[in-house]
Amino acid sequence: MKKRILLLAGGQSGEHEVSLMSARSVLSALPRDQFDVTPVVISKQGRWLPPTETQRALESGEAATGGDLVLHRVASAEGYDAVFPLLHGPMGEDGTVQGLLTLAGIPFVGSGVLGSAVSMDKVMTKQVLESAGIAQVAWRLAVRREWQQNPQGVRDRAAELGFPLFVKPANLGSSVGISKVGAPDELDGALNLAFGLDRRVILEAMTSHKPREVEVGILGNDAPIASPVGELRFEADFYDYETKYTEGRATMHIPAPLPPEVAERVRAEALRAFLALDCAGLARVDFFYVEETGELLLNEVNTMPGFTTTSMYPKLFEAAGLSYSELVTRLVGLALEER
Ligand code: ADP
Ligand code: MG
Ligand code: MG
Repeated sequence: MKKRILLLAGGQSGEHEVSLMSARSVLSALPRDQFDVTPVVISKQGRWLPPTETQRALESGEAATGGDLVLHRVASAEGYDAVFPLLHGPMGEDGTVQGLLTLAGIPFVGSGVLGSAVSMDKVMTKQVLESAGIAQVAWRLAVRREWQQNPQGVRDRAAELGFPLFVKPANLGSSVGISKVGAPDELDGALNLAFGLDRRVILEAMTSHKPREVEVGILGNDAPIASPVGELRFEADFYDYETKYTEGRATMHIPAPLPPEVAERVRAEALRAFLALDCAGLARVDFFYVEETGELLLNEVNTMPGFTTTSMYPKLFEAAGLSYSELVTRLVGLALEER
């Protein structure tokens, strides 16, 4: 019997369009002799679009308004063998949709509530990985109320890290709201920007030199495997939104030209992080490698990484001999696996 799959795409975050692109790739890759796939696009307002509007959104890359409240629609998800929540960022990758599907008793691709929520929040991720003994940059947390009531306290805490430093909303992706702060007089602007997007903000020390950015894919549940290591190269000061999404600004190198023992360290640390965060199914684990000092610092764990046929995660597994279509088939299998 064919498996019935509900593919959720779009969503309320700034990565709505990226998700629609990924969904088009997944839709054409799931083998039709094994799967019956129904896509549902979630609008930026969080409404689940009916079939015609979903189709239109997938084709145009833009979701219409209208649609149904999620609570009216989740009942219609009954009868599916599994859901593929191909959603990035808040209200999709952060445990919210995962909680809904858990309540509805429907298996789904990727991490559950805990792994999704902790990995989405850069501060919680740092805390969990710190207790697992994984090396990271120095960091501090600030919350919005404190920024409003005692801004000097927040500035002082930032200064402890030294300049330049990074200011980031704790729960976003795609570099949205992230600033590299070169001097104290740029700090307030960066904090206002980040607090405009999130209640929680992370302040991070900059690595000692401009780091190399290396990434590895993880696949599996409680006995996961790691892909070869990839590297991103770009001219920009850091990997900002424009560099990420402007064609030709960044290049992907797979495998990353690294000494074998460094690549092995990347893979081993990524597997440890995946298990420490209670991730499942898939994740892309991103690191800074400081060549001058040999330091390897874990930057972040993305539980629903970009998933077009040219995205890093599928490319990493392609390099390991797993085609895009074999990869998505494997992910559905992992969602259905007894744990
Ligand atoms: P996102 O989840 O939006 O991708 P990241 O934490 O990965 O956010 O930060 C985006 C980019 O900013 C990184 O890929 C890197 O280029 C740069 N960056 C972030 N934090 C640091 C840091 N502490 N030191 C050096 N570069 C950093
Ligand atoms: Mg991220
Ligand atoms: Mg990142």
